[in-house]
Amino acid sequence: MTISHAVMEQTPVSLYLHIPFCRTKCTYCAFNTYVNIDELIPAFVQALMQEIRIVGQSQTGTAVGTIFFGGGTPSLLTPQQIESLLDTIKANFDLLPDSEISLESNPSDLDYAYLAALRARGINRLSIGMQSAIDNELVLFARRHDNDMTAKAFGAARAAGFDDVNLDLIYGVPHQTLESWQTTLQQALALRPDHLSLYALGLEEGTAMTDWVARGRLPEPDDDLTADMYDLATDMLAQAGYDQYEISNWARPGHECRHNLQYWRNLPYAGLGPGAHGYAGGVRYATILAPQRYIQAMRNEGGKTFEFPYTPATDEPVVVDREAEIAETLIMGLRLTQEGIKRETFQQRFGIDLVELHRSVIEKYTKFGLLHVDDDVVRITQKGRLLSNAIFRELV
Ligand code: SF4
Repeated sequence: MTISHAVMEQTPVSLYLHIPFCRTKCTYCAFNTYVNIDELIPAFVQALMQEIRIVGQSQTGTAVGTIFFGGGTPSLLTPQQIESLLDTIKANFDLLPDSEISLESNPSDLDYAYLAALRARGINRLSIGMQSAIDNELVLFARRHDNDMTAKAFGAARAAGFDDVNLDLIYGVPHQTLESWQTTLQQALALRPDHLSLYALGLEEGTAMTDWVARGRLPEPDDDLTADMYDLATDMLAQAGYDQYEISNWARPGHECRHNLQYWRNLPYAGLGPGAHGYAGGVRYATILAPQRYIQAMRNEGGKTFEFPYTPATDEPVVVDREAEIAETLIMGLRLTQEGIKRETFQQRFGIDLVELHRSVIEKYTKFGLLHVDDDVVRITQKGRLLSNAIFRELV
């Protein structure tokens, strides 16, 4: 067993559950999600419970520290369905008592009764897809909600006892202005969320927005304006008391997303549900995309035993060798703008000092003021964030 495998095996695993259903398809979205197949939800929940059992039983006693219901739209599941999934996790894994259990949601699904029922069943972190405070932008995105619904959903979440609430916002969108982005940030901050995730629009293949831009029906996103929006957000969120702990994520102290930290620290997580991604047992993998095929695969599994973390839905598994694991640890870790990569942790995991391993590149970028190095950490500086991709490329 390598040093790295020993470290990984002592670390609690995170579980990502992909819920691939949406009521409408947002115009910018390229996630593995489907509309008009809600009738499959009950069979899907059964299949997901089966996949949880297979993974849990393939390595008994696996400790779980975080669970993330992502999608798709997990808030289309009933509280009873969420409870069945959580009960199956508890029966098949060692769910740690202080686990973070997050659920992504659409504001239009959220009222007090639903949120109180989720809270009572153990969901302790809520992520709300606000995206924008400008109703015209929400119409362009084909979102189901308007800004009033976000405010009501947020109030209902607080009333239901959620003290860990994230808002997702998008910037760099065609027709968005610096002023409209400022309004969105002001309205989001007025709600006093505990965490904010800000995503720059990516024009992904196959989305309606990409098609509209290609046909000239929408202007191309303006990279300079997008950079100005990022700078504006960085200033406004710092003034409002949020710490930027990752390139796209801000939190009030103590409210960093532990599940996502697991990704950025390149620690193990099992991905379950159609189109999920996982990294566990030294293997990076995806699961089959189509919900119907996923359900069928779970029905046909025939009581076979599987090696952790494989299931009948595992697709494209790639064994991660030491070199790849180091590269991935660097790319992910440098996204953590405060924590960076802890040299001692790196040394324990890989048996070599990070600065010794990449001395010339690290010295070069430290001299330019793009990297910070001290006895404890290597991290990217504020100036380095704008050039992070170039630094990542040279390091790997
Ligand atoms: S609700 Fe989320 S996952 Fe569903 S289509 Fe919209 S952006 Fe994509």
